[in-house]
Amino acid sequence: MEGERAKRPFDIDVAFERIREAVQPHPKAAMFALADEGFRSPFEQLVACIISIRTYDEVSLPTARRLFGRARIPAEVARLSPGEIDELIETCTFHEPKARQILAIARRVVDKYGGALPCDAEVMLSFAGVGPKCANLALGIACGQPRISVDVHVHRVTNRWGYVQARTPEWTEAALRAVLPEAYHVEINRLLVPFGKHVCTGTVPRCSECPILDMCQQQGVRKHR
Ligand code: SF4
Repeated sequence: MEGERAKRPFDIDVAFERIREAVQPHPKAAMFALADEGFRSPFEQLVACIISIRTYDEVSLPTARRLFGRARIPAEVARLSPGEIDELIETCTFHEPKARQILAIARRVVDKYGGALPCDAEVMLSFAGVGPKCANLALGIACGQPRISVDVHVHRVTNRWGYVQARTPEWTEAALRAVLPEAYHVEINRLLVPFGKHVCTGTVPRCSECPILDMCQQQGVRKHR
């Protein structure tokens, strides 16, 4: 896109350094914001991520806070009825099935795991409503495991860089696992969610003000600002 201008080789350390700076003024990615507020147990992170699916952060953040204001630990959530949970999270998309899923997780954690959700990918992925994106976020943020959570932003941005070439978020996750230094596995979501929302946006990215234009391949970008 940038005419014939030569690009420098992509340097992930430099990219992270510049993007850290670029996202400073913007709101944090939802799960990281909640963790900074103290909602950082595996259960809270997993439940908040379920609430956030297909829901804007502006809605999912207060929704998660409202639920946790009433019930934060699995034993407390397990005592609620599906209707009570549904009412607490009714502002998010698909609140009815999500309420049932959250209650089922809380009950199973109480019955099977002594009331604390273990830092175990297999256990998390066995719950209805939990996919790799949410499991990896909870394992990364709450458990400190080097997990890459690929949402639409991480998928789109890393493919535009030319850093990976993958058609689906699942393939992007696998490709990133092979090339991304482990120290960045959790941080990539923290950085690329706000970066994808405010700079490398969906249809017309803001390439002219992008801090890594000099090394981004702008793959698939047909129009930019
Ligand atoms: S905004 Fe443009 S230059 Fe920056 S990462 Fe996205 S596609 Fe690359």
